[in-house]
Amino acid sequence: MELINGNEIATAIVAELKEEVSQLKGESPCITFIRVGEDPASVSYVNKKNKIAAEIGMIPKLELLPLDVSQADLFAKIDALNADPSVHGILIQAPLPSHIDEVETFRRVSPQKDVDGFHTENIGKICQEDETGFVACTPAGIMELLSRSSVPLNGKHVVVLGRSLIVGKPVALLAMQKQSWANATVTVCHSRTADLPSITKQADVLIAAIGKPEFVTKGMVKPGAVIIDVGINRVEDSSRKSGYRLVGDVNFAEVSPIASQITPVPGGVGPMTVAMLMKNTLKAFKLAQN
Ligand code: NDP
Repeated sequence: MELINGNEIATAIVAELKEEVSQLKGESPCITFIRVGEDPASVSYVNKKNKIAAEIGMIPKLELLPLDVSQADLFAKIDALNADPSVHGILIQAPLPSHIDEVETFRRVSPQKDVDGFHTENIGKICQEDETGFVACTPAGIMELLSRSSVPLNGKHVVVLGRSLIVGKPVALLAMQKQSWANATVTVCHSRTADLPSITKQADVLIAAIGKPEFVTKGMVKPGAVIIDVGINRVEDSSRKSGYRLVGDVNFAEVSPIASQITPVPGGVGPMTVAMLMKNTLKAFKLAQN
């Protein structure tokens, strides 16, 4: 079994981006984060993205809004950033408070600055295989992990567990694209899928994104399969100072001995998501120059 090291691959991408940004003349790419409220996980995610953007040589900016911000005020902020030519990428940190319509908020961001890839236009561009669009960071990161780990998809059976808008659906669309780096036969499973193990056992590449700790067991996997574990789940662990540990959607101890390649959790898909956000920001910057 070979471990797919997301930390190492993400670090290489960040170094490549840093090199590319250092060659730019004049303006630098600017990403603006909008954070609503003080949710500790959101604070930590935004801080991390902010730090990596700065490390690459981009200009990170932070807009903090109170938890009780109205939808109108949030939209006014987004409109102002859309109109500001010095801002190339806009990221609205989810989750948003329940009085805010998340889908409408993501749609408010200019598609040209939508570095999260959640705008309807960018989701549509994946279907049309239009490379001027922005692909959501986690699915883009999964495809990059597979390609940099020399996993061929052409003609292979990719089984995706989960059909969410941010992971399952876009990664399925990417894997089935009519491109030499894709061309997979894709099956998408969800909570209503009957006899899940009979399908997952057919997978040459199994992508698990369901948010259920250690759900995928040895009996659900074909020996020699490549396993991409997207899940990030907290499970109680009294032996740790934090009181919990992170596990994926795959039972790593059981599945890793029979997999040919597998991503760990943490250290697999997670770090790729931030790296791809930075890649999208550089792309937005370049598109804005044309
Ligand atoms: P969602 O909750 O939006 O979607 C979960 C999907 O899994 C749904 O389609 C659901 O089916 C399906 N599902 C749930 N239970 C089962 C089951 N028992 N059998 C088959 N399918 C099932 O989750 P996300 O896509 O947002 O996230 C999935 C996981 O990935 C989470 O652990 C999340 O933390 C992690 N994640 C990690 C990221 C990273 O950077 N590494 C980024 C984003 C997410 P149905 O549609 O029928 O309800």
